[in-house]
Amino acid sequence: MNPHHDALFIGGEWVAPRSTARITVIGSSTEEVLGSVPDGNEQDVDAAVAAARAAFDDPTGWSSWEPGRRADALYRLAEALEKRAAEITRAVSAQNGMTITLAQGIEGGLPGVLLRYYADLVRDGSGEEVRQAMTGGLTRIRKEPIGVVAAIVPWNAPQLLSATKYAPGLAAGCTFVLKPSPETVLDAVLFAEAVDEAGLPPGVVNVVPAGRQVGAYLVAHPGVDKVAFTGSTAAGRQIAAACGALLRPVTLELGGKSAAIVLDDADLGIAIGEQFVNATLLANGQACFASTRVLAPRSRYDEVVDAVSTVVGGLTVGDPLDPNTQVGPMASARQRSRVEGYIAKGRSDGARLIVGGSRPAGLDRGFYVEPTVFADVDNADMIAREEIFGPVLSIVAYDDVDDAIRIANDSEYGLGGSVWTDDEERGLEVARRIRTGTIGINHYTVDPASPFGGVKASGMGREFGPEALLNYQQLKSIYL
Ligand code: NAD
Repeated sequence: MNPHHDALFIGGEWVAPRSTARITVIGSSTEEVLGSVPDGNEQDVDAAVAAARAAFDDPTGWSSWEPGRRADALYRLAEALEKRAAEITRAVSAQNGMTITLAQGIEGGLPGVLLRYYADLVRDGSGEEVRQAMTGGLTRIRKEPIGVVAAIVPWNAPQLLSATKYAPGLAAGCTFVLKPSPETVLDAVLFAEAVDEAGLPPGVVNVVPAGRQVGAYLVAHPGVDKVAFTGSTAAGRQIAAACGALLRPVTLELGGKSAAIVLDDADLGIAIGEQFVNATLLANGQACFASTRVLAPRSRYDEVVDAVSTVVGGLTVGDPLDPNTQVGPMASARQRSRVEGYIAKGRSDGARLIVGGSRPAGLDRGFYVEPTVFADVDNADMIAREEIFGPVLSIVAYDDVDDAIRIANDSEYGLGGSVWTDDEERGLEVARRIRTGTIGINHYTVDPASPFGGVKASGMGREFGPEALLNYQQLKSIYL
């Protein structure tokens, strides 16, 4: 891969950027320059929106195609992405520190899975249903594509989080302007190359790497019909406000501070293992749904603390490109200092540091932080309330199941969660009472066919599943 790119993918062509500004990406494990791309500005966004607008408004274009024809194009895009999967995986891993093993699955593999899933969902449908009207006669109900979508994604899982938007959106007949985060722009170029190779009509997908200011410009652009955002709650509030003023539909996948509720019947030898690590520390803790508040019954508190510290203390930290690594570095120096700030705050608030808390020995380069566990955390402490977005777990004691549920729900957020128990029925009863968009019993694995998203400050709307198609469709009733 040529790590320095000079063009932007707009209107189906590689065009010169309007400014000379560039985004340079620093490797999370090397602290060396990995590559650079043009830093898109407002005029680049204007061009990209105009291209997406023209592609959408073309009366014989993408949005008017038979769904089967669009589905074939999505299959071609899946193939083009899969051809580049190894390169994409390495690029993501080197940029944001995600372990190569995880990146192969979710960044290299899942986008193709999602494209085929949504292609198959729409392939044979007409997008129309005829319903008996209560007033007599019939109503023809049409699902029409919503239009030009501004898709804005973060750096922690850039390919997957782009695919959760463009896969249903393209299947529905929308066109896209994708704005990746400055930390992960090199994989975005590979994505654009795949779009180019797949032969999607010009302007159906446009990619403009840029920072938040240009992102805000894109959100409010008059040529945009819908905004699909994944990122922090702070940015989500600003985007929601802008979309509110414009009455522009928006889906928001935001932050989280989910709870892992260990019930008193759990066999800790089984419960606190690989699945628990996946649920609590996936992607080096840089996962929005991570269950980073571990709720432990007072009757077995010390046992839970021991089990969690043994498992977390035994994780292999190192080069994200090494398949043996279990925890890689933070994505950036800024992200590491944010995580270290929370660790210092946990200490000064009186939480008991059980594991980690420092930079790992022997790793002098790269934005590494030791996987860290605090015990005796009060749910009111800052480390239990705010999203850290790093490998830091807080263990909070509870008295009984009602108390556990109260603590789990005592959060600004509601995105993920997990229950650890020997009795699935009991786990289900607890899961039903948690105010969250998703929750797992004895594991937490996001599933492409099941809706994913948050409540409260974790966002609005759902991605994944057939439900996600509705994010990109308008309903029209034609009374016959
Ligand atoms: P961020 O909000 O700082 O940035 C996300 C993206 O939005 C970037 O592309 C950024 O350039 C852009 N942006 C920022 N402010 C903007 C604005 N006002 N208008 C338009 N665009 C703007 O988040 P981040 O630090 O890149 O990512 C980490 C956050 O993302 C965490 O809070 C995490 O929980 C969240 N996240 C949520 C999910 C989910 O599905 N709920 C998934 C992954 C990450």
